[in-house]
Amino acid sequence: MKKNHIMPFSSLDLLENEKQSKAYEKRTRYVEIVAKALALGCILLSVLSISGYVFSAPQLYRPISGGSATHPLTAITIILIGLSVFLEHKKYFTILNPLLAIAALITSLMVTVDIATNTTFTRHITPFSHTISSEVSAGLSNSMGINTAIMMICLSCALLFGSLNKIMIAQFTAFIGLAVPMLSIIGYAYGIKSFFGNMSILTTTYGIFLGLSVLFIHAKYGAVHALLSPHIGGRIARFQVLIGYFVPITIGYLFIQSLVSVKLEDLFGLYVVVISWFIIILIITSAIFQEKIDEKRRAAELALLQAATHDSLTGIANRRHFMELAKSALEKSTFNAAETYILMLDVDHFKSVNDRAGHAIGDKVLIAIASTLNNCVRETDSVCRLGGEEFAVILPNIDKDGAEVTAEKIRTAIERTDIPEYTDIYGQVTTSIGIAKAEENETIDTVLTNADKALYLAKESGRNKSVLYKPQET
Ligand code: GH3
Ligand code: MG
Ligand code: MG
Repeated sequence: MKKNHIMPFSSLDLLENEKQSKAYEKRTRYVEIVAKALALGCILLSVLSISGYVFSAPQLYRPISGGSATHPLTAITIILIGLSVFLEHKKYFTILNPLLAIAALITSLMVTVDIATNTTFTRHITPFSHTISSEVSAGLSNSMGINTAIMMICLSCALLFGSLNKIMIAQFTAFIGLAVPMLSIIGYAYGIKSFFGNMSILTTTYGIFLGLSVLFIHAKYGAVHALLSPHIGGRIARFQVLIGYFVPITIGYLFIQSLVSVKLEDLFGLYVVVISWFIIILIITSAIFQEKIDEKRRAAELALLQAATHDSLTGIANRRHFMELAKSALEKSTFNAAETYILMLDVDHFKSVNDRAGHAIGDKVLIAIASTLNNCVRETDSVCRLGGEEFAVILPNIDKDGAEVTAEKIRTAIERTDIPEYTDIYGQVTTSIGIAKAEENETIDTVLTNADKALYLAKESGRNKSVLYKPQET
């Protein structure tokens, strides 16, 4: 006995998904606006720093007196990179954009060469060099350090990759660039000087904002796009990024604080163990979360498949699915040199069922017939509702006698089926059946036409009959 289940399925879930996808697009647009706002903020603050040099107001580039300063070259590179981000997506600036990034790249490369080879080439392109020299001789620090230079190289390269449409590489490079001020922040938080080196807290802050703006400017694509997704992938990724970043930093901070009372080796081993367990738990938690959501998705997919292939009233295969099943049965029967028969059923005088008992009871009759059909056939047979009050059955691996016996079995079973609210009042429901053999290399359409011809003969000769199609009779 075969059973067909219709899964409870709500298309509202899918509509919700569709809504989320629209919100996703909006979200990426907002993030690109945020990227531009951050770039503009960096430009304005850098212009302010430079005006500090112009108007001899050192508090504008050295907010903490005696602390580290924003070097004019740093401010200029920030402006170049910031402008390049700010003008991104504007079609009149497609040439200017990479040029700004190239200018920033050359400047930061020169600084790097100067630091690496102990030369002073950049002095010639540094504005306000007199102010800087006098400050340095007064014992104040004012230079563009190696950290800042590396960060700027990464960010300008990211912009160049972006303008070449290599978004994944661009975002990866921006990420590396962003790691520099992040390291500096940790240096300030943990009190580790080598982590921030010459990078002032002001440049560190600019660096984070500028790094984020370069990273976010292509939010429509790549890793940032995946991170912003309102769907399962994005939700898990955001959770992992946030927890995966802040938990080890917090644990590290607590361990650094404990260094006073505990030996470094003991603490380091413990740190490695704690962090690896943390990573394992994080991954397992994400996997559980993902599996739960994926289970729902698989169920929805199955329900969709059921809705697409089955008749919603009777739960048996629909016409579309029947055609696929029949095609595959025909191919198999050719391959196995076995015989396949098709039965086509039509309920007799069904119009009068509706007319006398009403459409709702008519539906119940159709459901009852489908159920009887299912109960009469083998596990390997397929039952389908072709439409209206017409049904079909595929009988693979069967001979002529078997097909005729099955047709009769079905016909008598339907005739004997008691249908509450109908048969007790109006009498039994009967069907006429056409039987056709699927000849080798015959298409399903031809077999169906033949079965239909036999069905017509069954109707013509008095209904409540099964008739085998015989080619010579046509
Ligand atoms: P025949 O013996 O020659 O087949 O006569 P018939 O009345 O069965 O044939 P006809 O094709 O004229 O009538 C089919 C009826 O089936 C008409 C239509 O209203 C009804 N019908 C089709 N689909 C449904 C359905 O889903 N539910 C119900 N209740 N009736 C349906
Ligand atoms: Mg009909
Ligand atoms: Mg009919």
